Amino acid sequence: MTDLTMTIDGAAVASERYFDVLNPATGNIVAAAPDCTTQQLDAAMDSSSCAFVTWRADEDRRREALRQAAKAIAAAAAEIAPLLTAEQGKPLRDSTGEVLGTSAWFKYYANLELPREVIQDDDRVFAEVVRRPIGPVAAITPWNYPLLLAAWKIAPALRAGNTVVAKPSPYTPLTALKLGEILREALPPGVLNVISGRDPLGAAMTAHRVPRKISFTGSVQSGRRVAAAAVDGFKRVTLELGGNDAAIVLADADVGAIASKLFWGAFTNNGQVCSAIKRLYVPEPMYDDVVDALAALATTVRVGNGLDDGVQLGPLNNRAQLDRVSELVDDAVNTGARVAAGGVRMDGDGYFYAPTIIADVADGTRLVDEEQFGPALPVISYRRAEEAVAHANASNFGLGGSVWSSDTERAGMVAAQLECGTAWVNTHITLAPHQPFGGVKWSGLGVENGPWGLYGFTELQVIHRAKA
Ligand code: NAD
Repeated sequence: MTDLTMTIDGAAVASERYFDVLNPATGNIVAAAPDCTTQQLDAAMDSSSCAFVTWRADEDRRREALRQAAKAIAAAAAEIAPLLTAEQGKPLRDSTGEVLGTSAWFKYYANLELPREVIQDDDRVFAEVVRRPIGPVAAITPWNYPLLLAAWKIAPALRAGNTVVAKPSPYTPLTALKLGEILREALPPGVLNVISGRDPLGAAMTAHRVPRKISFTGSVQSGRRVAAAAVDGFKRVTLELGGNDAAIVLADADVGAIASKLFWGAFTNNGQVCSAIKRLYVPEPMYDDVVDALAALATTVRVGNGLDDGVQLGPLNNRAQLDRVSELVDDAVNTGARVAAGGVRMDGDGYFYAPTIIADVADGTRLVDEEQFGPALPVISYRRAEEAVAHANASNFGLGGSVWSSDTERAGMVAAQLECGTAWVNTHITLAPHQPFGGVKWSGLGVENGPWGLYGFTELQVIHRAKA
């Protein structure tokens, strides 16, 4: 049994029940995580309510606490990273990058100004617009970036003066529990509560009387449930949901120069990135060259246990995701697509799937139309750029998209036609603390990161003073 505990009101809290967390590289149990009870959920929520009263009042203290938090996270990187690899599967180097990114997000928000805007100051009226914290926030996160995506919520929420009850995915609760433990010293009791449990705990959080805002990252299906649960009390919501990002290669692109970037745009974190390239559109004359270049990369990339030296891709995170990727690839093959690389599960007990390039495939195939969230990229040929843009936009998703060309001006004009939250040119998945991130259509509601992400954890108040 793990000695990792939940953090409720600043204290270590065990549970009456536990659930197993598996290492996706081996199928073995890494640890057992506390399964939060209803009473413990109430305690976490009540503590976040109490802490809100003082936390919201002292901005300097908040900024200093976030700075301390950033330092504490970075200092614990060597301890947290192997745990992240063990529960999530990603290579150790990527885990270290995620821990340091988590620290960077806390630092960014510690230093970000929260503006007071004077909108009128004359002989009659002084009026200003201030951004107030909303209250206790329920933060619910998925399993692909368990720490970073939690930081995208916790850091701006706390900076704005809210308190947080955070719940990680049941597949990857350990590093978030660890984060709670590490931050107990930097943050006053109740400001950040971290609880763990299965999906019904998320539903209980969204239905709970205390939170005034729900910040959710996960699937479209769960996002719908969250939005519905929020309606009753008019809880504020930010939803970061799925994606099916298209990348469009233009005819003047240099295949040799972009192949590796395209590959990693699709296969970073084994394709388990909401804004990874999930379908690739390529002009007919260069189609074979692009498919061959990607297939060569897919067959040489090193897949294995993320703790082993030199491994570039780990396993998928869980059995259900492995089954889904497998099913979508099999469906494509059964409907006439060609496997240019991979297309099979790999031997061993872990959830390994060979990096897969699927050619001779078109819109209308499930692998193209649905979100695979795994290491299988369909490559689709097109004749005219307008046609590719139309295909890219013919989706309920609208998270990201990219255009690849030697002419960045022209690529920028094509990218501007994409219906999505981030349109990249000659890159994909490039994210930064100051760059807002969010989706249109079914990919979400609201944005995270940058000042805009901070504003999402505030409500406007007008202070209007009559002078005469
Ligand atoms: P999921 O929706 O199954 O679970 C996400 C979280 O929600 C988990 O903590 C889960 O326990 C909880 N949950 C489940 N049902 C709930 C309910 N009814 N009410 C409240 N909480 C509930 O998603 P997942 O499989 O963990 O993650 C994969 C999905 O997340 C993919 O679709 C991916 O694209 C998306 N994602 C989006 C972003 C983004 O920023 N847009 C980032 C990462 C992942």
